[in-house]
Amino acid sequence: MKITFIGLGIMGSQMVSHLVKNNVNLTVYNRSEIKKDTFLNQNVTIADSLQNAVKDADIVFSMLSTPEVVEEVFFGEGNTLSFMKENAIWADCTTVNPSFSLKAFQEAKKHKIRFLDTPVSGSKPQAKNAELLFFVGGKKEVINEVEPYMNMMGKKVLHVGDTGKGASLKMIVNIMLAQSMLIFSEAVLLGEKTGISKDFLLEVLPNLIVSAPFIKFKTDNIKNDNYDVQFPLEWMHKDLHLAAITAYENKQPLFLANLTKELFAGANKKGMGRLDFSAIFKHLEQNG
Ligand code: NAP
Repeated sequence: MKITFIGLGIMGSQMVSHLVKNNVNLTVYNRSEIKKDTFLNQNVTIADSLQNAVKDADIVFSMLSTPEVVEEVFFGEGNTLSFMKENAIWADCTTVNPSFSLKAFQEAKKHKIRFLDTPVSGSKPQAKNAELLFFVGGKKEVINEVEPYMNMMGKKVLHVGDTGKGASLKMIVNIMLAQSMLIFSEAVLLGEKTGISKDFLLEVLPNLIVSAPFIKFKTDNIKNDNYDVQFPLEWMHKDLHLAAITAYENKQPLFLANLTKELFAGANKKGMGRLDFSAIFKHLEQNG
């Protein structure tokens, strides 16, 4: 099988490293130039165009930033779908909204390409250690063909349902992630105002059952005021926006996630977009 991977950002660059380790017949493509020594002495083809990247591929993975970018690359200006082989599979790992995945499925179908939504749960460390969880939407027989490669990059492949259901679950997970981070931040800030030290709060609160388990991995960021990016705040803002669109499409009220979205919008506007999303603490701290 010939595999192509498009988008070597924070997540994509870690994910492809496992395909390389497994000696997959691999071609990669990234919009910005890939550093020369990235795949030194490794059997990887670096494509110089989208067309060359996908023309022979049996499976094309994409890990891009937003639905707009996926559209631009695959069925907008980039027109990647038109360069793909008939019956090839496109597995989109980008976090997008479910109605966008359905649109991508329809566009792929016009080119006789089989589509799966395959977003991932887990951040940079999980991508680095092949511990991602894939949430997959699509037909079981198509998933079976892609599963061996997802297993190289992750620890579990969860078939959620038909097209769009993988995207749906991913979006729901992320609104919980954003809100948990916000709730924890607000609690710590109030705790400090009552006279309890920040260090004490950061030590005690994450070990109580009221805290989400992932919070333990974010306390050092707050303690050290260092928000080196793992999951960019700008993409959390995007995911909350996608949830708002989805809520509108489904006529489902979404009070708290929309409030959370506006707080992330404020942090993003202030230039915190390329900090880790846990920098929402810093944003709240600076804004009373
Ligand atoms: P990232 O580091 O910002 O990477 C984004 C990728 O998209 C880069 O390869 C970038 O290429 C490419 N891209 C952006 N605009 C483009 C355009 N107009 N044309 C072509 N390529 C373009 O993001 P990431 O953190 O890897 O996240 C990727 C996706 O996974 C996002 O949807 C995010 O929400 C989701 N996700 C992220 C995490 C995480 O912890 N980071 C976890 C789970 C899911 P350049 O290198 O040229 O900019």
